[in-house]
Amino acid sequence: MAKSPEVKLAVFGRAGVGKSALVVRFLTRRFIWEYDPTLESTYRHQANIDDEVVTMEILDTAGQEDIQQKEGHVRWGDGFVIVYDITDRGSFEDVAPLRSLLEEVKRPKNVPLVLVGNKCDLDHVRQVGTEEGERLAAEMACAFYECSACANEGGAVAEAFHELCREVRRR
Ligand code: GDP
Ligand code: MG
Repeated sequence: MAKSPEVKLAVFGRAGVGKSALVVRFLTRRFIWEYDPTLESTYRHQANIDDEVVTMEILDTAGQEDIQQKEGHVRWGDGFVIVYDITDRGSFEDVAPLRSLLEEVKRPKNVPLVLVGNKCDLDHVRQVGTEEGERLAAEMACAFYECSACANEGGAVAEAFHELCREVRRR
């Protein structure tokens, strides 16, 4: 039997945007309110995507690494989730530099990537419009999801991870 494909996914974004909450939501379908922000973890997860069993290794970065550590994470990964918090404009402004780092380290390959605007349950304190996220994703030629690790309506969290797996497999 053929070995099931394995993809390495790294989750990037400023500290506090909800990377750990998203990963835990994806893996357990639960929301955990407080998660050690300095913790970096990897997880293994299998999913059936388009009738194929895919094994994912997911690296949940802490978001406060120095540049060498970040570059190491980029070299390790096959695909990347870049997360910002829709209630924190600064976290959105961090996206473009992160994307540049990915491009630089992976050059000349192009980089499978999805953009996630998290915490969309907090619409009343939103600082980044949906259209702004869409526009940035279009510039980066990647898929875009607004989601909430705590509400997760419509299963957008899993959809983002699955789409990234497809993107990695297409390259
Ligand atoms: P990380 O530093 O990017 O890993 O962020 P965490 O996953 O530790 O989350 C940071 C804070 O944001 C925690 O207090 C979480 O409870 C909260 N949080 C994460 N995701 C959401 C979300 O979708 N909605 C809301 N309201 N809070 C969230
Ligand atoms: Mg974390």
